[in-house]
Amino acid sequence: MTHLHEPLQFHAEVAHAPPRPGTVLLVGAGPGDPELLTVRAARALRRARLVLYDHLVSREVLRLVPEDADLLYVGKESGRHTLPQESITELMVRLARSGKSLLRLKGGDPYVFGRGGEEAEALAAAGVPFEVVPGISAAQGMAACAGMPLTHRDHAASVVFATGHLREGSRDGAQRGGAGAACAVDLDWAALARPRQTVVIYMGVATLPVICAQLIAHGLPADTPAAVVERATLPEQRSLVGTLASLPALAQMHDARAPALIVVGSVVSLHGVLSREAAVALEHTEAR
Ligand code: SAH
Repeated sequence: MTHLHEPLQFHAEVAHAPPRPGTVLLVGAGPGDPELLTVRAARALRRARLVLYDHLVSREVLRLVPEDADLLYVGKESGRHTLPQESITELMVRLARSGKSLLRLKGGDPYVFGRGGEEAEALAAAGVPFEVVPGISAAQGMAACAGMPLTHRDHAASVVFATGHLREGSRDGAQRGGAGAACAVDLDWAALARPRQTVVIYMGVATLPVICAQLIAHGLPADTPAAVVERATLPEQRSLVGTLASLPALAQMHDARAPALIVVGSVVSLHGVLSREAAVALEHTEAR
C-alpha cells in the first residue's frame, strides 16, 4: 500500500494540517410559504447543524431546522443592519475554515438581490467549498399567488426585475423629494418604460412615488396598471392595485409596508380574475 512508504515528514504535516474547511450551502428559502421550498432546500434544512439566516426567512421555514442545531440571525432590514455584509461574509469564511459546515439561508433565491453572488465570490476566493440551492424568488411567488403572470402573450413579452433600493448615502435626496429623489434610485428608466413588458421592483416601497413618476416621465401611460404586493405567498398577502398615477396615494392610504414588490404592466389587470385573494384587491378608482 503506497501510503505506508510515505516519508514521516508527510505524516507530521498531516497531523498539524488545518482542519478541512466545512462546506457552505447557500440556500434559497423561497418567498415565505414553507411549501414553496425546493425539495433540496427542505432536505438540507432538516440536516443542518448551523444556520445563518436573514431577516426575510419565515418562522415556518426555520421550524424545519432540527431543535438542537445552532441558529444565528444575521438579518438585514433596510437601514438596520445587524451585521454588515462584510462581517457576515468573514464569519462564514472563518466558520468554514475552522471545519464547520453551515447553511446560509436567504429569502427567495440567493442570486436575486440577496447579495448571494458576493457571498459566493468571497467563499470561492477563500477556497471554501460551497453549493447554491436555488429558491423561488419573491416575484415568482407573487405572480402565482397574486394572479399576475410575469409574461403573457397578450400583455408582456419580457420581464425585468429591478431594485428600488437607494444607493448608499442617497436616502436624504429621496426624502427631500423632487430631482434629488429622482436620481437617488439608480435605474435605467428608459429601459424600464418599454411597452409590452412587466417590471417587478424589489425593495421599492420607500421610493414608490419616484418610481411611478419616472416611469411616466419616460413614456409609460399614467393609466398603466400597477400594484404593490405585500408579503406575497404568506397568509397576510395583500395586493394594492391601481395605476402608475394612483398607486403612490393608494399605498400611502393603506400604509403599504415591506416586504413588498411593485409590479408594473398590463399583466396586473389579470389580478381580478387570477388572484387567490378574496376581495382584497382595491380598484384604482378608490384612490381618486
Ligand atoms: N432574494 C430575494 C430578494 C431579497 S431583497 C428573492 O429572491 O426574493 C428583499 C426584497 O424582496 C424585499 O424588500 C421585497 O421587495 C422582496 N420580497 C421578499 N419576500 C417577499 C414577499 N414574500 N412578498 C413581497 N416581496 C418580497
